[in-house]
Amino acid sequence: MTDSLALPTSDWPVLEQGWVWLCGAGPGDPGLLTLHALNALRQADVIVYDALVQTDILDWAPQAEHIYAGKRGGKPSAKQRDISLRLVELARAGKRVLRLKGGDPFVFGRGGEEAQALVQHGIPIRIIPGITAGIGGLAYAGIPVTHRDVNQSVTFVTGHDQTGDATSSLDWKAIAQGSQVIVIYMGMKHIGRIVSELLAAGRPLSEPVGLVTTATTADQQVLESTLGTLEVDIAAAGLEPPAVICVGRSVLMRQALDWQSMAQGIAPRNLDPLDRGRPAEAG
Ligand code: SAH
Repeated sequence: MTDSLALPTSDWPVLEQGWVWLCGAGPGDPGLLTLHALNALRQADVIVYDALVQTDILDWAPQAEHIYAGKRGGKPSAKQRDISLRLVELARAGKRVLRLKGGDPFVFGRGGEEAQALVQHGIPIRIIPGITAGIGGLAYAGIPVTHRDVNQSVTFVTGHDQTGDATSSLDWKAIAQGSQVIVIYMGMKHIGRIVSELLAAGRPLSEPVGLVTTATTADQQVLESTLGTLEVDIAAAGLEPPAVICVGRSVLMRQALDWQSMAQGIAPRNLDPLDRGRPAEAG
C-alpha cells in the first residue's frame, strides 16, 4: 500500500505555492522513483506529465490535478513552448506544480529548456534528478553500462536531432572509434542509418547490441543482437519504441546477469561471458 510509504525524516523540502519542481520519474518501475519525487507527488496541486511517465505513478498523488503533456510527432518546438508557458501560468496562478518527466529530466528530455523558460519568467524551481533509461533500463536487462573488463567510457547519444531526423550533427566516426560502449536513446526510427554509420566507422558486424523496450515495466522486452543483424532482428521480434540500445561488449554480460530470468528459475547461460577465465590466446 502506498499509504505505508512514510518518508524517513521530517526535513523534506516543502513544495510552495508558485513553485515548479522539475522531476525525473525514472524509466517506469515506480520503485525507481527517488524519495524527493515521492515527497513532491505528495504535495503537488498539479502534475504535468510526459508520455513516458507510467500513469500508475500518478495514483500516488490522488489530490493533484493530472495534466498530460505528451508530445507525439508533429511540431515538437511549438508544443515544447506551450508546455513551458503552461508551467509558467500554473505557477503564476499560485499552484504547487510538479513537472514529471520520464527518466532524468536533464537527459535528452528537454528539461533544461523548460527550466530555463521558468527561470526567465522568474518562477522558482527545484530540479529532482531521476534514473535515466540508458542506465537503469539496461540494468534491468542485466547489462552493466560500464564493466571494468569492457569499457572505461560510455557515450550517450540521441538518434534524433531537433528536426526529428537522424542526428546529422553527430560525429559518428569519432564516437564509434572513441567509445567502447554507446548507448542510444530515440534510436528506433533511424536505426538503419545509425547502424550504417557505426559499421562505416569500423565497428564490426559481430559487435554485440542489446535493445530494451519499455524497460523496467511489466512489458519490458530485451533483444540481444549484433550490428550485422539488428534491423532484421528488431523487425522479426516486432519491437516498438521506447527503446534504449546499447552497442558494445558489455551487452555480453547479460548472459550471466539476466537477473529477471534468474528470479524465474532460469539458470544463467554463461557465467563468464567475456572469457576472462581462459588463458589469452597465443599469437
Ligand atoms: N529523460 C529520459 C529520456 C527521454 S528521451 C531519460 O532520462 O530516460 C526518450 C527516449 O528515452 C526514448 O525514445 C527511449 O530511447 C528512452 N526511454 C525512456 N524511457 C524508456 C524505457 N522505459 N524503456 C526504454 N527506453 C526508454
